[in-house]
Order: sequence, then C-alpha cells, then structure tokens
Amino acid sequence: MSDQLKDYKIAVYFGRKYSYERTFICSCGASSTITREEPLICKACGNDNAIRGGDYVVHERRLTHGIFTCVEKTDSYFHLKKKEMSVNVRNMKVTFRFTHDWELKFSLRDRSAALFKDGKQVSCGLANYMHINQFFKWGHSEDELIPVFATEKNQPLYEFIYLKFGSEYPERVDKLGRALIRALAKPYLPRLELFANAGFGKNLSNIFNYDPWISSAETKPHRIFGVPKYMLSILREIGTFGKGTIKNLQKLDELIGGNNVRIMAEIFKEESTVTDMVHLIGQIIELYTDYGYKDVKRLALYLAREVKLEQGITSPHVAATTLRDYVRMCHAMGIEPKEKYPKSLKKSHDIAQMNYKAKEDEYKNMMMKAVVAGESYQSLTYRKDRYAIIAPKDSSDLIQEGSSLSHCVASYVDDVIAKRCKILFLRETAEIDKPLVTIEVRDNNIRQVRGFGNRSASPEELDFVREWAKKKGLVLATY
Ligand SMILES: [Zn+2]
Repeated sequence: MSDQLKDYKIAVYFGRKYSYERTFICSCGASSTITREEPLICKACGNDNAIRGGDYVVHERRLTHGIFTCVEKTDSYFHLKKKEMSVNVRNMKVTFRFTHDWELKFSLRDRSAALFKDGKQVSCGLANYMHINQFFKWGHSEDELIPVFATEKNQPLYEFIYLKFGSEYPERVDKLGRALIRALAKPYLPRLELFANAGFGKNLSNIFNYDPWISSAETKPHRIFGVPKYMLSILREIGTFGKGTIKNLQKLDELIGGNNVRIMAEIFKEESTVTDMVHLIGQIIELYTDYGYKDVKRLALYLAREVKLEQGITSPHVAATTLRDYVRMCHAMGIEPKEKYPKSLKKSHDIAQMNYKAKEDEYKNMMMKAVVAGESYQSLTYRKDRYAIIAPKDSSDLIQEGSSLSHCVASYVDDVIAKRCKILFLRETAEIDKPLVTIEVRDNNIRQVRGFGNRSASPEELDFVREWAKKKGLVLATY
C-alpha cells in the first residue's frame, strides 16, 4: 500500500434522498447523525470522504468504491487508473480493504478502449459491459466522475454520451461504462466530436436530434449547416438549428451581406439577444426589401435599443412586428409613413390600424356616404374667403384627415354612421383639399377642434369656428 493510502479514511452514510437526517459511519470508529443542512463530514475526525450506503441503516452491507487518478488526458484520449476497494459496514462499524487495480485507456480518435484489471487486459466490447461498468463503480454519482477524465473542451461531449447512451431500453439506470463503449460504435461519433470541438458542446442534443447535421457529407461545421463561416458564432449563441432558422439566416446573409449581419448580431447581442434577432429576420427582410429600410444598422438600433429606452417597448419582436405592420398598412392605404423610425411607434401603428380598418370596411363606407350626404350634415357646411367648413364625402376622407393630421379621427367612423356625432373639416378655402383642422360636433355642441397631432386651433381658426357656430346654432362647448 502506498504512503498516500496508508491513512485512507472512508465513511458510509445512510438516508433517503429527501430525509432530514442521515446516519454517518466513519472508518475512524465514530458514527453520528447529520442533518440535511450540515455537511457530510465525520464529527469526530473531520473525514469528508463519504459514500452512500442506502436508504436505511442495515446490519451488514458490502460496497465497492474506487479511487480514480487520471494519468493523462487530451481532447480525444484519456488514461484513467482506479484503486478499487471493498467497504464493509457491520454493526455500525466501517472497514475497508483494497481489492483490485484497474486501468482504462480510452481513445476517441482511434475508437478504441483497453481495460486492465490487476495488470491483465479484460474484455470491454459491445458484447460485454460487465467489466467496464465495474470499472466506473465508485459510490458517487457518475457525472461527478466525468470531470476527472474530461478536458474542458470535451466534457460536454462525454456528458452528452453518458446521458444519451448510458441506458437503452429496457435498462433503467444510466451507466457511464457502457455509454462510452456504445459511443465508440456510433458511426456519427466523429460528427459529434466535430461539433463539440467547434464549441457546440452544449447543443449536441439539438444537433443529434436533427438528422441533416448528423448525416451530411460535409466535414466542416459551417458547411454542414450551409452557412458562411462567420455565422457559426451566431448559431452558437442561439443554440438551435432548425431548418427554418438556417434558411432565414441564409436569406439574410444573401440579402444584406455578411458584414451587415455581423453588425446587427452585435447590436442585438448587446441590447437583447441574438436569438431575438433570429426570431425577427422575417420582419427585417420585409422591411428591407419592400419598404426601403436599407440602413440595417439604424434599423437594428431602433428595434433593439431606441424603442426600449425611449418608448418602453422592451421586446424587439414586438417592435419589429409593430413597425412592419405600420408601414405595411400605410403602404396598403397608399400613404407615405410620416416617420421612418416613429418616435411613438405604438401610437403611429394604432392610428394607421384604425385608418386601415376603416378603409377596409366598404360597407361602412357606403353607410358613411349616405349619412354625410344627408341634409343635417350638408346644412352645416360653410364657406368664406379665407376658411371653409366642409363635410367628409366618405370614410376615406376621414382616413385621409386622420393620417395627414396624425390623430385618430378615423376611429369616429362608427359614431358618425350611428349619428352619435358629426365630423367636419375646417380648411383654407384656397386649399380646400388640404387637411387643416378637424371638428367634432355632438348634438349641437362643438366638442373638439383639433389640428395636426391634436394641436388646438389657432386664434384665427377659432374665430372662424365661432362665427360658423353662431350661424348654425351650435354651442362651442370645448375645444
Ligand atoms: Zn471519523
């Protein structure tokens, strides 16, 4: 026995996973009760080398434990030694003795494993997992063992292997030994290694679950995905590789160029997430292609930063969709959007939407026409040299008025049709077709007199409204 092992101590503890107290029996001879809040350390000698004995204290139990030492490890190879010991629990006493010396040389590159027990090679192939499972037996959970032989780079690969191949139906427990042996036999192991080494270790199950990335004939990760090399960092960020996602990224690259995609990704990484960017590629492409948003850096800053800081819209997806819908509706209505990057996106959108809905509704338009053509409406029109008050001809007049003056008069269509109110336009007689001020009349009261962006009427305009009100028997109630 080496000096290092001369003073070796071990303890065995008993207790169910969620039980409050555990019984802790140390090879120093002491035993104690340890609560769930306390560390598993011998209260007599401070020994913290403890393995689990089972749910309940038993009169007698024999356990196998191992002390592992890693002799050598690289990203594709490891050489692991194990000192196996037999641990006995009897009448609340723990004793142990060293039983076997093991050695495992495992090579991902050569796809080989060589296992030795007490200096003699023993079988560890697909036909017999007995020895290799015995080798990895050590009284702790097996995933604690992985860091002993894994490098920083390949640890995610080994973890994936353990979870994926540790048990196959009808096996019920994951075992590291057979997982490693099975992995060596998988034809796609080099492919998994390739992605693990390219920094996709955390995403191996997503890659594994998507057949094209496993069976592709290409040998470089970006070629396998079918994207330019710079996009690997974007894919690593988002961690999912569905066909739709890849297709969108390819399209974006083609359309705006790699440099622009990189700039956008950086902005989104800083302000929200790259995943957010990927989720709104469709909107970005539409804005770029159909609505002239060619300055993608400006667009990204607007969607990911500006609307968040200045308008409280924290989701870039909501921002992109709202902007897209806004310009789409403006386009459908034949109106040029007032601002390319609206200072109040939500409001601009909502106004456009009201206008749009009003326009869409042809039936409403016909009713509107009939109402405004009626005598009670026409009798309110009034014309002088400088100003005139005219009635809308139909709902598209309201839409026009609402979008040129940036207010939501179009939302009054329903009220006008139902004759709950009348909307009239104050115009300059010389420019009778140009929206200026909108007037709302309810009963015989003038309720609102509003210009661009809901501005109040100027003194001159108001004088004319007063004159008109007097002539028509209306009351200027508020304005
Ligand atoms: Zn002790």
